Amino acid sequence: MAFEVEAKVLENRFVSGITWEIRLEAESIAKTTQPGQFVMLSTHVADNGEYDPLNRRPFAVADVEGSEISIFYDVVGRGTRKLTLLRGGNRVHLLGPLGEGVFPTEGVKKAVVVAGGIGASGVSLLVKRLAEKGIPTTVLYGARGKEFLSMRGWYDKISQRGVEIRYYTDDGSFGKKGFPVEDLDKFVDPQTVIYACGPKPLLRYLKDYSRQRGVKTYLSLDRRMACGWGVCLGCVIKTDRGFERVCKEGPVFEASRIVEL
Ligand SMILES: Cc1cc2nc3c(=O)[nH]c(=O)nc-3n(C[C@H](O)[C@H](O)[C@H](O)COP(=O)(O)OP(=O)(O)OC[C@H]3O[C@@H](n4cnc5c(N)ncnc54)[C@H](O)[C@@H]3O)c2cc1C
Repeated sequence: MAFEVEAKVLENRFVSGITWEIRLEAESIAKTTQPGQFVMLSTHVADNGEYDPLNRRPFAVADVEGSEISIFYDVVGRGTRKLTLLRGGNRVHLLGPLGEGVFPTEGVKKAVVVAGGIGASGVSLLVKRLAEKGIPTTVLYGARGKEFLSMRGWYDKISQRGVEIRYYTDDGSFGKKGFPVEDLDKFVDPQTVIYACGPKPLLRYLKDYSRQRGVKTYLSLDRRMACGWGVCLGCVIKTDRGFERVCKEGPVFEASRIVEL
């Protein structure tokens, strides 16, 4: 069930690179969000006569704490630029949690979580739940450079709860130089379930990897979307069931079900 709420901004701060974090008071959403789900967030103050941009923007719920939700967002265009202007105490329209395709953790014995760039915010709540369940988990988190590992603080903290975190950068400025998927063979065995969120090339690689190795893999997909709840059909992808909506049947799909990424 999704809730339409006017959420209070608790904090909106620059993190690093092009990433900001916004924390919102949204109890109904905080209490019901499952790993992989997202919200549609208006990028301007609620009810002040502003309508630009008209469409809300989709963001993963990166973390929940009591009645708060946290979103990590990259500033890439008009909406996210406007989002940086929000201040503590402002109110924003928020719809969520959305997406019926979530990350399943039932019966999982061992997890490898691959996070690429801002995709780290699409799997962080999952990592928290895996830690809470005591499922042995390794996170392979890669980005262009040190400042783009913008959720490093969050992941360093969760590592204190027994999660192994490995960092990678394209330019070698932090962690190991290279892509996180290059080390998969070291951490994956037939018992492992792989979860991932990140840029398309990374997800394509994992889709092929999971087919070749027969490893169950769940991918969180990112498509431009206007409505976020299944009406506009702007975000469809081709799957083994025909066309499915990333916002409604997704955003998480089992890799083997995706025909075209
Ligand atoms: C389910 C889901 C969860 C997401 N979670 C997050 C998140 O946690 N953090 C985060 O930073 N981003 C996330 N995104 C992407 C985010 O929604 C877009 O970056 C945002 O809507 C861009 O808005 P804008 O107005 O700033 O950009 P626009 O001005 O609309 O576009 C600027 C540029 O960004 C590109 N762009 C816009 N939307 C997307 C998109 N969905 N995917 C890829 N490129 C896009 C455009 O093609 C254009 O080049 C998520 C997307 C989906 C579908």
